[in-house]
Amino acid sequence: MNVSLRLPVGLAVETTIGGCRAALAPWRRPDQRIALVPTMGALHAGHAALIDRARALADATVVSVFVNPTQFGPGEDLAGYPRDLEGDCALAAAHGADLLFAPAVQEMYPGPPLTRVTMRGVTERFEGKARPGHFDGVLTVVTKLFHIIQPDIAVFGQKDAQQAVVVRRLIGALDFPIALDVVPTVREPDGLACSSRNANLTAEERPQAAGLHRALARAAELAARGETDTAALVSAMRTVLAASPALAVEYAAVVDRDRFEPLAALDEHAVAIVAARIGRTRLIDNLPLAPHDA
Ligand code: AMP
Repeated sequence: MNVSLRLPVGLAVETTIGGCRAALAPWRRPDQRIALVPTMGALHAGHAALIDRARALADATVVSVFVNPTQFGPGEDLAGYPRDLEGDCALAAAHGADLLFAPAVQEMYPGPPLTRVTMRGVTERFEGKARPGHFDGVLTVVTKLFHIIQPDIAVFGQKDAQQAVVVRRLIGALDFPIALDVVPTVREPDGLACSSRNANLTAEERPQAAGLHRALARAAELAARGETDTAALVSAMRTVLAASPALAVEYAAVVDRDRFEPLAALDEHAVAIVAARIGRTRLIDNLPLAPHDA
């Protein structure tokens, strides 16, 4: 597909880097700001909140849809990742995005991906440890998207809290003139964080998947009541997680929101994080914890 509607009326869809740059040329003026919402598609209410935020902050909103193979490890769900480009165009248009950039893998990686962006430190823990090479793939594709779109603003979700930290460090380390905006997690009525991967949950798994949020909410409740011992908070999270036997917990922790290092005692930068497998689906979630201010 290589559709190009006229900007700025309606949604333009571009599949090539050249087409994307040409479509954005009219927006590149000192008095206009461009926002980028990078996604892997199968767009849902969480992505919609990011697009709404981008529109509030900028004059032109670009949504990228690219299931980035370099951020998937061998044996991960690259092939089974949900895809729905038609639905993505409809959601992006309904939320007033101006341009949807949906390149093929060949367009982004014409040859073997021998050049990559890598980062030490925060990438070595939690998601980085569970998914070796994942953040290199994220950093590489985000860098490419930043160069292609050249946005003034990049909008990411708190849902992927460690990713947001990594992208903030990338912007600082490589001097991208981009303001990062992080949008709170959008949830289903039972608390399950909206995620493209939820589409792969079976009817039996779906209710238990909300156990991740129930565990985080329990930690937040105890923190609000004055519990400052993070070991007690993690233990309470694990008790709640154990009530959903289909969940195979990978990690549950309370970390500093900027360094993603485990905290011994709660402070105002604490965030509870959890990752678990349920059947063939891997889910992550997190919740900032406000300490009791007595
Ligand atoms: P993804 O398509 O899953 O790679 O996500 C693209 C962007 O949407 C990332 O910045 C995510 O953090 C964000 N996102 C995903 N799910 C949610 C959600 N439930 N609420 C808010 N943002 C989200």
